[in-house]
Amino acid sequence: MEAEFLALLAQLHKTQKRQGPGGDPETEKALMLAALDQSRSLSIADIGCGTGASALTLARCLDAEITAIDFLPDFIDELGIRAEKAGLSHKISPHVGSMDDLPFSDGSLDAIWFEGAIYNIGFENGLSAWRRFLKPGGVLVASEITWITNSRPNEVQTYWEGEYPEIDTASSKLRVLEACGYAPLGYFVLPENCWIENYYQPLQERVPEFVAEHPDNELVASIAEAEKFEREIYLKFKAFYSYGVYIARKI
Ligand code: SAH
Repeated sequence: MEAEFLALLAQLHKTQKRQGPGGDPETEKALMLAALDQSRSLSIADIGCGTGASALTLARCLDAEITAIDFLPDFIDELGIRAEKAGLSHKISPHVGSMDDLPFSDGSLDAIWFEGAIYNIGFENGLSAWRRFLKPGGVLVASEITWITNSRPNEVQTYWEGEYPEIDTASSKLRVLEACGYAPLGYFVLPENCWIENYYQPLQERVPEFVAEHPDNELVASIAEAEKFEREIYLKFKAFYSYGVYIARKI
C-alpha cells in the first residue's frame, strides 16, 4: 500500500517542474542572502530535490558540485534527463537516497539546500542531524511551513497542527536555528505566485490526466481529492501561512 501510494505520487508529480511551492527568483534570492564565497568551486547538497528545480537553478548560478538527493528514483531519473538537456549534468550528481541516511562526510559541504522538504524529517531534527556535514561557516537554506501572522482562525490552526505539528511563527523558527548551532542570515516569505502559478495551477492541470491513467482506482481518486483539499485550504487561508525561507550559517 505504502509502496503503491509512493509510486502513484511519483507518477503524478514527476512531469511537473517542481513538487512543492517555490520559484527560481526565490532560489536566487536565498542564494544572494547566503553570500557564499564564489571565488572557488562549492560543494552543495540539495536534499529532497524532487525533479530538481532548485538544483538546476543553483547549477546555472554557481561554479559548484551539487549532489541532489531524493528517495523517489523516478524524480532522480527525471532530474538526470533535465540536467543533461540544460547542459548542466557536469555540475549535478543525482542520487537516490533517504534524508535520514545521507552519504556525506563531516565538514564536507559549503551549503545544504532544502526546498519544501525538511518537514519530512522535522525542522529541528534535520537542522541538528545535518549540521555536522557543513564546513565551518557553511550555510543552510531551508524552506519551512510558517505562520505569517501572530494569530489565526481555529480551522487553519487545527488543519496544520494535524498535518505538521512543528508549524510555528518565524521568530520561533529562528530560535530553533540558534539553539541548533546556526546564526540566522536571512528570512523571507514565499509569495503567492510560488504556490499558485508555480505549483497548484500546473498540478491542477495534471490531475485529470493522472486520474484518467488509472480508471476506477480508489487510491488515485483519494490522492486527487487530497490535492484539491490542500489547495482549497491554501486559497482560503493564505493570509496566515506560507513557506518561510531560512538562511543560516553554521557556528
Ligand atoms: N525540493 C523539491 C521537492 C519538494 S517535495 C521542490 O521544491 O520542487 C518534497 C520532496 O522530498 C519529494 O521529492 C519527496 O520525494 C522527497 N522526500 C520525502 N521524504 C524523503 C526522504 N525521507 N528522503 C529523501 N527524500 C524525501
